[in-house]
Amino acid sequence: VKKGSQTSLKDPVGVYCRVRPLSIPDQECCIEVISSTTVQLHTPEGYRLNRNGDYKETQYSFKQVFGTHTTQKELFDAVANPLVEDLIHGKNGLLFTYGVTGSGKTHTMTGSPGEGGLLPRCLDMIFNSVGSLQAKRYVFKSNDRNSMDIQCEVDALLERQKREATPNPKTPSSKPPQSKLLREDKNHNMYVAGCTEVEVKSTEEAFEVFWRGQKKRRIANTHLNRESSRSHSVFNIKLVQAPLDADGDNVLQEKEQITISQLSLVDLAGSERTNRTKAEGNRLREAGNINQSLMTLRTCMEVLRENQMYGTNKMVPYRDSKLTHLFKNYFDGEGKVRLIVCVNPKAEDYEESLQVMRFAEVTQ
Ligand code: ADP
Ligand code: MG
Repeated sequence: VKKGSQTSLKDPVGVYCRVRPLSIPDQECCIEVISSTTVQLHTPEGYRLNRNGDYKETQYSFKQVFGTHTTQKELFDAVANPLVEDLIHGKNGLLFTYGVTGSGKTHTMTGSPGEGGLLPRCLDMIFNSVGSLQAKRYVFKSNDRNSMDIQCEVDALLERQKREATPNPKTPSSKPPQSKLLREDKNHNMYVAGCTEVEVKSTEEAFEVFWRGQKKRRIANTHLNRESSRSHSVFNIKLVQAPLDADGDNVLQEKEQITISQLSLVDLAGSERTNRTKAEGNRLREAGNINQSLMTLRTCMEVLRENQMYGTNKMVPYRDSKLTHLFKNYFDGEGKVRLIVCVNPKAEDYEESLQVMRFAEVTQ
């Protein structure tokens, strides 16, 4: 089986920014789009006074910035279309939406019925392109599980790490903790154990699978007394391509003829810090862990970028969280990673937006 990998990846990491419209027109605004690649963060007056001049008006640059008037289609064409092209050509892709709760992550990824987001548009493009290609048979698979399990496992992993950090002379801690939930297949791809793969034949069928996953996620969140903004939602689209024989009747089953590629769409947990959500007890611990997985993502992206810029070979610490471990192949350079940083420009969100921009800065 050929893996969806490439040796020389031209454009491995790309960070974009989408600024959503204010929900109240007269709200004080702190983010200004100043070019197609740059935003300016303005320090709100109240914040300035409190800080005795300890603030900085800063510009942040991105691969591309999408202002408040950007349509779902424009965003899709610029960011996701190339990933679907890759998928069809047997290459892997990973797309994240990142930002605080309410910044437009889900709007961007899923959208609404009249204004479909990236996910339904990716599915449409896949099924439309593939319908016109006759030489191969395609099988699509989507998973109907989601990251709830990953988040639970992150909690468990952190507990374990804490235990292992306690000195115990009888058991020298040599290996990093291994997860039961994350498994590695023989092609070194990570997957979530027990995650179901469903074969789908149309956008509608695939979207149905997506909603089933979302429903499970909601139920599980409610069960754990957790808001859905505290878990990551992961949706994988797997494309299995096998050429037909000379007559075009039969699918060639030889393993070396089959290409498998995958596109992962990840709506990340809200990046807000704990104190803002005033979480307590269990919820506080969970919020802390979420931050931990986003922190690890940040570190991994940072090291990945450094390796690319300076041609170094620093170890990317993807094992430090389930989220990054699941996507370890990307940190080894096997597929494009795209991150859409979503922001609400309202002044009220200034401090959080500053954190989000700093995250983007290191991953750029
Ligand atoms: P998040 O997933 O980051 O918590 P949502 O995507 O749920 O945020 O967005 C919060 C609200 O703002 C939703 O009602 C959504 O429809 C609206 N919204 C977000 N982004 C946009 C946008 N670009 N254009 C119009 N409405 C938006
Ligand atoms: Mg959301």
